[in-house]
Amino acid sequence: MISKILIANRGEIALRVLRACKELGIATVAVHSTADANAMHVRLADESVCIGPPPSRDSYLNIHQIVAACEITGADAVHPGYGFLSENAKFADILDAHGITFIGPTADHIRIMGDKITAKETAKSLGIPVVPGSAGEVLPENALEIAREIGFPVLIKATAGGGGRGMKVAKNEEELSEAVSTARSEALAAFGNDAVYMEKYLSKPRHIEVQVVGDGEGNAIHLGERDCSLQRRHQKVWEEANSPALNVEQRMKIGEICADAMRKLKYRGAGTIEFLYENGEFFFIEMNTRLQVEHPITEAITGIDLVHEQIRVASGGGLSVTQDEIVFSGHAIECRINAEDPRTFVPSPGTITHFHAPGGLGVRVDSGVYQGYKIPPYYDSLIGKLIVHGRTRVECMMRLRRVLDEFVIDGIKTTLPLFQDLINNQDIANGDYDIHWLENYLAKTAE
Ligand code: ADP
Repeated sequence: MISKILIANRGEIALRVLRACKELGIATVAVHSTADANAMHVRLADESVCIGPPPSRDSYLNIHQIVAACEITGADAVHPGYGFLSENAKFADILDAHGITFIGPTADHIRIMGDKITAKETAKSLGIPVVPGSAGEVLPENALEIAREIGFPVLIKATAGGGGRGMKVAKNEEELSEAVSTARSEALAAFGNDAVYMEKYLSKPRHIEVQVVGDGEGNAIHLGERDCSLQRRHQKVWEEANSPALNVEQRMKIGEICADAMRKLKYRGAGTIEFLYENGEFFFIEMNTRLQVEHPITEAITGIDLVHEQIRVASGGGLSVTQDEIVFSGHAIECRINAEDPRTFVPSPGTITHFHAPGGLGVRVDSGVYQGYKIPPYYDSLIGKLIVHGRTRVECMMRLRRVLDEFVIDGIKTTLPLFQDLINNQDIANGDYDIHWLENYLAKTAE
């Protein structure tokens, strides 16, 4: 049994995990950098340990300090949240060597899914549909042959990829060699690894991802999908569950393919299998072996607390539900509230002078900020998430409009005004958008 969890993260996700621990009667340890000494997750945890100066590499990514904090406080498990060390196989190995439970999958599964080529091969072998592409690494000398086989346009992607870096489109043969060399040098700069691979470039796909949870013993469930097509620079801005593009049969079919794959893999913990979806077909792009930012919309439509499930399976307690017991109910939308200019997305750290969070039926605000809180400039600009649930998509959208009007965050710029624009847009009302929609919209409506 797990009795004390150290939360190796900050911000809204540290608070989110802390809430789940409290509900399960598990003691909590917060860790923080010197910049976060006044943060909400530090105030609400049972104990806290300062693990270093503001830069992430010296604090939230400092494995030695985090392990030391576990030893000092007697924490028997670590929840990594998302980002930071959540997909770091070495961290999972080190915790294991210290007899500390990592609340997540095995280090081997993190490694397999962390490399895009082995992830794709594994997905394919487990029966998951993948994007047509190169069998392995693409080199400048074999790029043309492979691209002709796949058919233009093609996308060159970094094997070690993340955050959309090291990705280049080649529309035709003329553009190919430059796309390959730029992708390789970008990949080297970003990940210290210049390996790239090639995929068919899909021109108008939606981004649809399936939530799974496994117990590590061969039992696994899926919790439906999320549509995260509204993105800018490959970063999600607005997410929905269910996808406006799928019907029940399609949902259950892709969900069952994913759950079945996780059973075969004996996957442990929560994970997300990401697809591009075009013309009725799904194409695997990657699997994230952790909790995602947008997990609350899945919780809203299923009533299942994903962090509770993560902790249960990590402590050997199994899943709390079987697939047949899961009931999908209504529609949920999440808006990511970033401390950024709503048009240019330039970060806007500073002090929040007024803060009023909305409430009422079907409204959830996951945020670690408060009036008077000074946002440090060192970290991700996500300061909160607004999650709205309704019995239908129409009810959910009406509720979201009401809630956006109530939300007040003053003193800094936030992305709230963008959502007020989107809620009044006809394409959004119709659920009619693909992964390029938002960038096109921003370009069209720029002054
Ligand atoms: P990363 O790990 O760098 O985020 P992903 O493989 O998850 O890379 O892709 C990120 C985004 O890039 C996707 O959500 C999609 O917008 C775009 N993308 C990825 N692969 C393709 C593809 N084959 N065709 C078109 N767009 C793609």
